[in-house]
Amino acid sequence: MICRLIAQEARRVFSRSMQFEAGLHPHMPVCDTSGSRLLYIHVPFCEQLCPYCSFNRVRFEESLCRKYFAALRNELFLYKERSYNFGGIYVGGGTPTVLMDELEKTLETAKDYFSVREISVETNPNHLTPDRLMVLQRVGVNRLSVGIQSFDDNLLRAMGRFEKYGSGSKNVERLKATTGYFDTLNADMIFNFPIQTDEGLDRDLMLLLETGVDQVTYYPLMVSDLTRNIVEKTLGIVDYRKERRMYHRIVERLLPEYRFSSAWCFSRKESMIDEYIVDYDEYAGVGSGSIGYMNGICYANTFDLQEYIERLKRNEIPLMASRRFSLQDRIRYDFIMKLFGLELAIAPVRAQYGKRLIRYLWPDIAAFMIAGGLRYRRGTLYLTGRGRYYWVIMMREFFTAVNNFRAFCLG
Ligand code: SF4
Repeated sequence: MICRLIAQEARRVFSRSMQFEAGLHPHMPVCDTSGSRLLYIHVPFCEQLCPYCSFNRVRFEESLCRKYFAALRNELFLYKERSYNFGGIYVGGGTPTVLMDELEKTLETAKDYFSVREISVETNPNHLTPDRLMVLQRVGVNRLSVGIQSFDDNLLRAMGRFEKYGSGSKNVERLKATTGYFDTLNADMIFNFPIQTDEGLDRDLMLLLETGVDQVTYYPLMVSDLTRNIVEKTLGIVDYRKERRMYHRIVERLLPEYRFSSAWCFSRKESMIDEYIVDYDEYAGVGSGSIGYMNGICYANTFDLQEYIERLKRNEIPLMASRRFSLQDRIRYDFIMKLFGLELAIAPVRAQYGKRLIRYLWPDIAAFMIAGGLRYRRGTLYLTGRGRYYWVIMMREFFTAVNNFRAFCLG
């Protein structure tokens, strides 16, 4: 009952946040030279499109992809020209490693332009080859995140990943062979597929522990308006009651070998790069369909690849829409994102927002405390065991709202 209410409320709040200001000229947030911001670079190309995937992705086509990377570098230049600076880079997709020479050139360009301290890159298991790994090492990648999803061959076949991205046993070996190349090797996993059983999940967890990866990000299956029909046809109808049980099983099996980095991210070591929305207050998004959040403005680039490339040829930042968050929305956004990292120290946020922090947040804080999701100790709010699952629900709804926004933009 409580979980259903949280999901409904989160859906309402996030779908409202994703309603951009139609018809207005999109705002580019004002420049800030601080190096603590993150730069998100989106590479939407994939060799094979997985039916359940709601991300912004298209089928790989080499000549288009090369033009796209050239446009990305132009966009980086436009940020540099406006004196932006970024301390971290996260390259997500799609599959950023589809064209290594282009990726390397783009990361080198970003490093020339900005004071970059850390780089995260996403990839797929079939790209864990020595030649690719060496390029990633050479260019200074600290964290490599591999989209594994599951080691269950039946599930991988139903997801359309078995042929292209490899069997479960093959991917266990690939992960084992990749440990030690980077500060952090992360495996992205998904739970709560409709055809996934508790036994199947246990087997995935056993194999995962065997790989020795530094970090695991275990997402619940997210179904957007764009993928609902196809997910129901290929995998079945998602049962959210099973999600809670499976989440607690994952936590039980991964602790104590791993510690929590966020409600759904588990790391072996203390100082690891986790979720960028937790670690960075603000981020710029470059690439087609990227979403950024800076100075209280959430903004999105065009999802149309051709338009993206054309506008960058004209040296235009390819913004499509923006939304200026109200103070209440900003406070709430910070509250949700920071607590996703499990705790929130009150003093720094109070210094930022003053008395309005409590005025706007007390109903949320009180509700979560009554529901047993939050506790307060010595100036800090902490998520409880129950609260961690509440935050998984909220983040699931946040990413679903982002994906629904994309579905809306694509018409
Ligand atoms: S799951 Fe990964 S590989 Fe599959 S379509 Fe989505 S982004 Fe591409």
